Parts: sequence; structure tokens; C-alpha cells
Amino acid sequence: MNALAKDARSEGRLSLNPDLLPAVLAHPLHPTPLLVSSGATSSRCAGNGLWTLDLKRHYRELRYHEASSLVTIGTGLTMAELLEGLRSHQRALPIGLSGVPGSGFLLTGGMGPLSRLQGLAMDHIQRIEGVWGNGVAFNVHRHDVIGDERAARYWRALLGAAPFLAVVTGLDLRTRPIKPLAVLQERITVDALPNWIRSAEQWPPSASLQWSWGDHVEVYAVECVPDGGTPDLLPALAGEAAEICADQLSLPVFGRLTSDQKPSPFHCEVLGRLGSSWGEQAESVVDRLREQMMRRPHPSCRISAQQLGGATGTVAAASTSFIYRDAVWKPWITAAWTPGDLPGRKHALEWMDSVSHALMALNPGVHLAQLHDHLPCHDQELKDAFGSWLPSLQQLKVELDPDQRLCRL
Ligand SMILES: Cc1cc2nc3c(=O)[nH]c(=O)nc-3n(C[C@H](O)[C@H](O)[C@H](O)COP(=O)(O)OP(=O)(O)OC[C@H]3O[C@@H](n4cnc5c(N)ncnc54)[C@H](O)[C@@H]3O)c2cc1C
Repeated sequence: MNALAKDARSEGRLSLNPDLLPAVLAHPLHPTPLLVSSGATSSRCAGNGLWTLDLKRHYRELRYHEASSLVTIGTGLTMAELLEGLRSHQRALPIGLSGVPGSGFLLTGGMGPLSRLQGLAMDHIQRIEGVWGNGVAFNVHRHDVIGDERAARYWRALLGAAPFLAVVTGLDLRTRPIKPLAVLQERITVDALPNWIRSAEQWPPSASLQWSWGDHVEVYAVECVPDGGTPDLLPALAGEAAEICADQLSLPVFGRLTSDQKPSPFHCEVLGRLGSSWGEQAESVVDRLREQMMRRPHPSCRISAQQLGGATGTVAAASTSFIYRDAVWKPWITAAWTPGDLPGRKHALEWMDSVSHALMALNPGVHLAQLHDHLPCHDQELKDAFGSWLPSLQQLKVELDPDQRLCRL
């Protein structure tokens, strides 16, 4: 569980079966917002004085349908549990850099090393079932919304903004054949980073670059091995240093080369931005980030990034709440402090804000994979995440969660 959420003075956790869930959401008495926890990896899956609805116990279904290659899942599963359940069928879908996150990853537009080739995990959703904040149950299929303007608005809102409107309990997802992957993970100098970024922007969609900057800079490049062939890009770049992994769950741990020391326990908040290619500006952005890294307030503060483009850009911007379909990079900031160190927390959050500003010109969007309704930056993040779609989402909030049982929008 996220360390900050674990240490919160939560009112407690509710494990509600599908019969009780609508009644509890419609009930006016619990303090709001009611927090929701699936993989429990974000800081906001538990909070001081608030109840958490825990999906882990009752929403664990996993049924693969051979004929359609769809999988029906409960939203209490982690991405590792999902891929493990699909392994025996030789199927998968693009998850992120770890199997630990839960359905928050699917619903908030999570991306991973295969997203340039296969799209966002969210783009694989075919059906969504759950309960709106007002206690009314729903079950929407991708095909049902064609020609139905109202249903299409619900569908768009659920894909990327579900945590503000509903508790999602079940999903049908498209799957893909499992592919072996080549991975290159190595430490580089800061001076080499702009070249890596510029060169990755020319890579085919079968490859992606991730990097993370802590005490050291790590690059983590992944390339999908073509059917019956060999990957050409990474072996050409790295020779023997490129390792072949059987599937996404076999990839090495991202970020392990950024420090020589085991980190001591810390609390953190994470903010992800979205934006276009860095191209010729890569040097100047990296220089700005170097200044920020020189004054990071805690050794676990980091700046990282993952690459988008390719398939993530082929979906119409107005068809989901993930509006930055032209994004090429998602840089994210980890603002860390020692548990209980309130001045340290303040400095870390100020640093996160300052790095976010340094990135903003090239990365105007926000990837709302972590909710920050407990922080002053929440309103600006909503604007940066949803742009001109935000007023429509706010209208839907009035209709579907009028008493703001779920996170403020
Ligand atoms: C180790 C690690 C690696 C990661 N790698 C990546 C990556 O490669 N790419 C990427 O994009 N992100 C990545 N993330 C971020 C992560 O995907 C998001 O923070 C995601 O929202 C976490 O979902 P969760 O279910 O694990 O967390 P939770 O804390 O349980 O939930 C996160 C948020 O989603 C909401 N939510 C969760 N489930 C539901 C539901 N069923 N219905 C309604 N609301 C719900 C919750 O209200 C909560 O606010 C990573 C995070 C970690 C910890």
C-alpha cells in the first residue's frame, strides 16, 4: 500500500459486495469524499478522517473468453494478477512499468512501454460496469453508445475521469498475444540524456524510452520482438547489453539504477505532465531540470519520463477524457519527504510545483493518475488535465454525483 495512505488517520476500510455498494453511495451520512482503493498505490486511496471503499475483496473476477479474446475482470485485481490470469491463454494487454497498480491504472489512462505500439490500456476497454456517485448502477458497452449522445458522454467521461463520477466494479477488455520484449537498462550521464530523448523521438512505435533521474540517470528502453524475428533497434544500439524478456511481467524493475543506496522510508506525491516532442529543446529542458535536481529537498525526489506517440495518438482526442492524444512524453515528478517531517513535506511540494513549472511550456497537459484533491494544485491540475472538456465533466458531476460523494471535480 502507498506509504502516505497507509500512515493516514483513516476512518476505516469498507469492503462492500455489489448489493450493498449502491445503498452506501446513496447514503448521506458518511464524510465525503468516499475514497476508493483498488491497487492502493496512490497517496489518495486513504486519507485523514475519511472512509475508503476497498475493491480488493469482492471484485476479483477474471474470465477469459476464447471466442472474442475479451477478458471480463473485477476492478479489485492488480495489473500483475490480470496478466498472470491471461498468461495461460498467451494473451496480455499493455500495462505500465509495474504490475503493482490496480484498476486506477486502467481507468485513468495509464501507459507503459508497449503503449506506442498497442495504445493505452484504457483504449482496450469494451464495457464498463459500476455505480455512479448518486448510487445508480450502470453497465455501458462501447457499441451501445454509437448514435446515443448521452451514452457517448458517459462513456467518454468514464474513460479517464471515472474516479470523479463513479465506482467502477467490472470491465471487459480486449487482449493481445503475449510478445517477448528486448530491454536495455543502463546508467547514463546527464549530458547524454538530450541525445537519448531526441533519438527516441525517431524510433519506430515498436520501441519506447523511459528514463528516471535520481542520484543517477537511468535509461530504460523496451522494444517488442516481432513475430518469428529479432528486434533490430536495441541490439544495434546496445549489442549484448539488451536483455530478452518473455513478457511484460518479466521486465526488470524500472528505476533500480538511479541510486546506489536502498532508500529509507519516505512519503511522496506524484504529478505527471503530458506534452509534445522535446526535439531541439531537449538540452535546454534538461538544463532546467538539472537546476531543479541540484536543489531537490530529499534524496528520493526524482524526475522521470515515459514515451508516448504511435498508437496512443491514433484515438480521437474527443472520444475519451485523455485529451492529449498528441502527447509524446509524460514526464513525472516524485516529491518525497521523511514521514512526519511537515517542513520537509512543504519543501517537497514546493519543489514539485517548481519542476512542474519548468516542464510546463513543452508539457502543458496533466496526466491525472494521482488525485490531489487534498492539495492546493488540484483545481489547476483539473484544468490542465481536461482542458475544454472540463465544463462538460462538471455538468456530468452535477447529474451523476450531485452530493460529491466522490472526489471533487
Ligand atoms: C510502482 C508503480 C508503477 C507505476 N507505473 C506507471 C506507469 O508505467 N504508467 C502509468 O501511467 N502510471 C503508472 N503508475 C501510476 C498508477 O498507474 C496510477 O497512480 C493509478 O491511478 C494507480 O491505480 P491503483 O488502483 O493502483 O491505485 P489506487 O490508489 O487504489 O487508486 C488510484 C485512484 O484511482 C481511483 N480508482 C481506482 N480504482 C477505481 C475504480 N474501480 N473506480 C473508481 N475509481 C477508482 C481511486 O479513487 C484513486 O484516486 C505507477 C504507480 C506505481 C506505484
